[in-house]
Amino acid sequence: MPNPLLTRWRKVPERTRGYLVALFLVAAATFASYALRTYLDRSIFILFIAPVAMTAWYAGRGPAAAATILSAVGADWVFLDHNAIFIPTDPHQLVGLGAFFLSGFIIVQLSGLLRASRDAALQNAAILEEQAMELELQTAELEQQTAELEQQTQEAQTLSEELEEAHEALKLSSQLQLSEAQSLAKLGSWEWDIRTNEIKWSDEMFRLYGMEPGAAAVDYDRYQELLHPEDRPIALETINESLKTGKPFSYDHRVMRLDGAERIFHARGKVLHDASGAVVGMLGTGQDVTEARRASEALQKAGEAAARQAAAEAAAGHLNRVLAQAPVAVMVMAGPDHRFELVNAQACSILGPLETLLGRTVSEALPELEAQGFVQLMNSVYQNNEAYVGTEVPARVRATGDERYYNFVYQPLTNDEGVYGILVVANDVSDLVEARLTSERARREAVAASKAKSDFLARMSHELRTPLAAIIGYGELLEDGITGPVTVEQKRQLGRIRSSANHLLAIIDEILTLARMEAGKEKAVMHEIDVGDLMESVATMAEPLAAAKGLGFTLQPVPAGTLMKTDPVKLRQVLLNLLSNGVKYTDKGDLAVNAELSDGRISFFVRDTGIGVDESHLAQIFEPFWQVEQTTTRRAGGTGLGLAVTRQFVELLGGTLSVESEVGAGSTFTVSLPLR
Ligand code: ADP
Repeated sequence: MPNPLLTRWRKVPERTRGYLVALFLVAAATFASYALRTYLDRSIFILFIAPVAMTAWYAGRGPAAAATILSAVGADWVFLDHNAIFIPTDPHQLVGLGAFFLSGFIIVQLSGLLRASRDAALQNAAILEEQAMELELQTAELEQQTAELEQQTQEAQTLSEELEEAHEALKLSSQLQLSEAQSLAKLGSWEWDIRTNEIKWSDEMFRLYGMEPGAAAVDYDRYQELLHPEDRPIALETINESLKTGKPFSYDHRVMRLDGAERIFHARGKVLHDASGAVVGMLGTGQDVTEARRASEALQKAGEAAARQAAAEAAAGHLNRVLAQAPVAVMVMAGPDHRFELVNAQACSILGPLETLLGRTVSEALPELEAQGFVQLMNSVYQNNEAYVGTEVPARVRATGDERYYNFVYQPLTNDEGVYGILVVANDVSDLVEARLTSERARREAVAASKAKSDFLARMSHELRTPLAAIIGYGELLEDGITGPVTVEQKRQLGRIRSSANHLLAIIDEILTLARMEAGKEKAVMHEIDVGDLMESVATMAEPLAAAKGLGFTLQPVPAGTLMKTDPVKLRQVLLNLLSNGVKYTDKGDLAVNAELSDGRISFFVRDTGIGVDESHLAQIFEPFWQVEQTTTRRAGGTGLGLAVTRQFVELLGGTLSVESEVGAGSTFTVSLPLR
């Protein structure tokens, strides 16, 4: 319990406290010496130095100085003889008081020094104490840390022991787990030491090959043996490549397990090097991915099947659209009673609306077709599995009314169980048939008309030839004087009759020939001939005619021995006709005949320098009885049959007759014939 007075005292500022102490001590000394003055010698006043010293010691210089002054006053008051202002009257006492002051101030000074050194000592002590305290604290802390460290060391040791245990446990369990994981993943690992050629397999690796773990020592050759023979080269190549480049490898290969099963392994591996970088081995894994690969293969196949299905559906859609737009009728008749299962738009346009057909049999939907025998036809196609092709078959369907012609196919449709339907493809060919029938009719009529004309001509010619032959015969008899003498004049006139009759006979012969040709009675009699000989003989006959009109004549011979197969009589006739026309329609200049060979053909050219034919008439001159100059104005005789007969002959010989001409300059007729 602190003293309240002491507490208050401590609250008074230190400096004030010093002065109060000085005052108290001096007062106490004054009081004590005053009380005891009768027993004390004057000189004792020096004792007043005591409160000064005490004050100096306790409160420092200021209070000590104050105490010195107060003590001097107190001592003066108690012991010395003094005047009113306390100055001692006795000089000895004054000196004594002065000495007192001096000692007082020395004490003050000393006490100041002492205090300072005491304070310094105290401060040092405090610092030392603090340092000691600090040291103590640090020591305590160190101690604590040491303790903690010790504890930690202890704990660490325990922990490390536990860790060791855990590690051991983990090692054990991770080995177990690894082998479990390997077995779950069907993944084995291997390590190949190239220097010893030893391959270390994990347990699972053995199992993957169908062996007991550790069942056999494995080296590179053994490993090769286990590979699928077809995959050995690629394995060898992959491993060599990896050893060469140092790059890891990863690929699929097949192996043959001990139980003979073929499995797919995914192999991965990398090269191992020693500290100097030299290749010392390989390390890797093998995983049985057979199921995964087969699954992905199956998946791929399924994908492909789906794609095929989609494509098939698209194609089916396309086919449907094509069928719908096809310009022919397409139907599928299902089952033995031929039910309409598929009918395209074109079929509907022939047979009637779709709703009247679909799902019905032909007999139900179109009984009229049954009456016309089509159902029986379908029955036989269905039963015999043989297609039927109908060409221009007439049919009458209610929807279209009239009888129309169809080209159609009944194609049996089959599956594994046999025929299940008939595909009908039909095309309305009525317009074509009509057109053909019309043209056939016309042709028949034309043939008949032509034949009638030919018959008429043949008959007429024959009727004319017989009397004409008689005229010529009898005329010659008369002319020769066999039936009696004739005068010169009579003979001249008989000659004219013969010439006219011969001319008429020539005309009739041409008409007969043409008629025979048109009646198809003229035949070519083919022989192998020498072309040069034939041309010579033609020239021999034509040259005098040309000479008679003052025209030149040239024959350009073909190479000797040029042979061809033809009817020589008709070819000679052809060339003579063309040459006699040349003479007939040429007044000055010359005629020329030559031949050229090319590509298995021979072309004869008959040229003249005559009047020519206008381009507009070039086609017509080959028609029978057609002549450029009509009869009344004709300068040359003729029937207009020569070129018609000539062309027919050429065509009979398998060739062509053409002409090029220029009015006033001449014409070139070309006969082109095959050599054989
Ligand atoms: P024709 O007996 O009138 O000669 P063709 O059939 O031989 O009958 O000839 C028909 C017509 O072609 C002739 O009338 C003639 O107008 C014309 N013609 C034929 N050959 C020649 C030719 N070489 N030069 C000019 N015109 C010709």
